[in-house]
Amino acid sequence: MSKTIIVGGGIIGLASAYFLRKKGLDVILIDKGEPGAECSSGNMGWVCPSLSDPVPAPGLVKTSLKWMLKRDSPLYIKPSVVPSLSPWLLQFWKYCSEDAYQLGFKAGLELSKDTLRLYDELEQENGLTFEMHRKGLLFVCLKENYIEEKMESYRIVEEFGLPSPVSKTKHEVLQMEPALSDAVAGGIYLPAERHVRPESLTLALTEWLKVNGTEIMSLTEVKGFIQEGDQIIAANIGEKTIEGDQFLITAGAWAGKVLNQAGIQVPMTAGKGYSLTISSPSVQFRQPLYLGDSRVTISPFHDSVRIGGTMELSGLNTDLDQRRIEGLRNSAAQYLRLPVLGKEKAWCGMRPMTPDGLPVLGRITGYTNLFIASGHAMSGISMALSTGSAMSELISSGKSEIDLKPFAPDRFKTQHSNDKKSKVTV
Ligand SMILES: Cc1cc2nc3c(=O)[nH]c(=O)nc-3n(C[C@H](O)[C@H](O)[C@H](O)COP(=O)(O)OP(=O)(O)OC[C@H]3O[C@@H](n4cnc5c(N)ncnc54)[C@H](O)[C@@H]3O)c2cc1C
Repeated sequence: MSKTIIVGGGIIGLASAYFLRKKGLDVILIDKGEPGAECSSGNMGWVCPSLSDPVPAPGLVKTSLKWMLKRDSPLYIKPSVVPSLSPWLLQFWKYCSEDAYQLGFKAGLELSKDTLRLYDELEQENGLTFEMHRKGLLFVCLKENYIEEKMESYRIVEEFGLPSPVSKTKHEVLQMEPALSDAVAGGIYLPAERHVRPESLTLALTEWLKVNGTEIMSLTEVKGFIQEGDQIIAANIGEKTIEGDQFLITAGAWAGKVLNQAGIQVPMTAGKGYSLTISSPSVQFRQPLYLGDSRVTISPFHDSVRIGGTMELSGLNTDLDQRRIEGLRNSAAQYLRLPVLGKEKAWCGMRPMTPDGLPVLGRITGYTNLFIASGHAMSGISMALSTGSAMSELISSGKSEIDLKPFAPDRFKTQHSNDKKSKVTV
């Protein structure tokens, strides 16, 4: 039977493994740590097809230049990484045009069109239980003009079968969410959106995969590949090699580094985000909230509340900057009647970021059996099932129902050093 080696056990690797197993393929999933422990753990868990718009957006160049050196702003760029990051940043700023934004939004919506159905089906899967809420999503803001702007930009979701966003007055918003303070000017309600407890989802998938015959190799770092002609034949894990028929790289923010080991360049960087999870909280929330002007978000779970957000470009590292946690707390305080008290756990994770804000999905040009699915930025939980489903189709049959052209790995002119005649160990 055909065997797929998956490198990276975050939500994208786990979802891909799930769909490949459902198709009857053998799968080995390798992670340098524990599956689900990196960016796929402490995030906000939103499953929001309507929010499939790319990070680079019109107006962001000006705003990001204003924010970039301020540690508690929504986007902080560490000055010491600017020289090494500048090729990525220049491309990113190039994609902050209206045209690129609209194209990216449509591609994201197309990729996400089956998301809710796929989550419904996953919930029905035998032996797979996770925390999922169907409460919609409430955008709130302190300035009224923000509502008009957002209403305008999210109208496009109707074309993709999603319900229209509903504008809400200040009075309506306060009725919907009594925890909000009088400072709030109004909001927008997106009724179809959901949220999951991401840790419960990755744990459920990991357990399901183990029970259903997937080999999971934790604490195992892929350090290179063995190549023969236009094929990868094995992953190098130090003292051993792991052979397979197909190789899928789902290493999130590390995907660029992993592919570099085979001489392939994909412009992937880390967009670090932070969250604060408060157990047995003093304040209860009725639905997830997007605190618009500050770009901070709140997710209520069964036993806790999570406040999260911010984007820090500081390279590949998981150093937790306490000042940014304070920034989250201060932003939330502007919108809430009372502070949320309880047992706190601070967390940070690296969103995998490409310059155009879209994931990289597909087969690597020049190789017959090397694939990538990484770069989901703010939407990895939301897009995981549609990505996993599409990648399983591509790997098992050579094509996928969803058009993956907008996500092509070579759209950034991927270079590779694939000498077809030689056998190379990298
Ligand atoms: C604060 C915050 C809030 C967010 N909120 C949401 C949200 O509400 N909704 C949403 O959809 N998304 C959200 N996201 C984004 C989402 O978390 C990411 O898009 C998603 O987790 C990325 O998943 P991944 O599987 O690509 O990466 P990861 O979860 O980081 O997994 C990559 C895995 O690859 C492994 N790996 C790396 N290198 C190697 C190697 N050489 N060998 C073996 N294994 C390797 C790592 O150990 C890791 O486990 C949020 C992110 C942050 C930071």
